[in-house]
Amino acid sequence: VVDVPPFCCLDEPHTIRRELEAADIVLVAVDDEAPKYLIDAMAWELQRPVVYGGVYGGGWGAEVVLVDPIAATPCYGCAASVLGRTGVKLGKNNLIPSYALPNAGQDEDGWTLADLTSIKPAATLLSNVAIAWLEADAGHPARLDELQQDASTAWRFAFRHVPVWNLGPWCLQPVAVNPKPDCPQVCGLPGVIPIKHVCGDANLLVIAADGCELQRKAAG
Ligand SMILES: [Zn+2]
Repeated sequence: VVDVPPFCCLDEPHTIRRELEAADIVLVAVDDEAPKYLIDAMAWELQRPVVYGGVYGGGWGAEVVLVDPIAATPCYGCAASVLGRTGVKLGKNNLIPSYALPNAGQDEDGWTLADLTSIKPAATLLSNVAIAWLEADAGHPARLDELQQDASTAWRFAFRHVPVWNLGPWCLQPVAVNPKPDCPQVCGLPGVIPIKHVCGDANLLVIAADGCELQRKAAG
């Protein structure tokens, strides 16, 4: 594992693009929605698979999204729409994620944040999806097939009973995502670059963030 000094991907899009191009699979755990859309657009252009993970504020649930252009999955934007995300708010400070637990009558700045008791199991789910993709790429698709039952490319994980999801506690729910007709990525169409065989030394790019500051960890 190699630690790289933090940088801002919105200030250095060329850096994040170079890192994406060198990766076999990318794990994204940024708090802000804007970098996710930037990474999604670049990964779609470069035909790189990306796994996005996030924990709801307050730690009551988590979501993971797999986007694999070559497998013709829907893009992050289409998945986020199905999951109820509001997208990027223009002209507003986006440091508080839109998927934080909304507290009635309270501004976003006052929403409860998640802690490690929910972040760690969410990270485990994120890693499991990435490992399942790597296994499938190496010719062992059983785990990914199980995760993707009913053509699901997103997953909700309830740490407690979540009435709006009708789920939990400690339950995983696969979510099927259909590409939106007006998707700017025109996602859901087969990719043009053949899948690279990555069994063995997979180049794994992990992007985590505190606000705009991104940290990269590359595993050879
Ligand atoms: Zn899309």
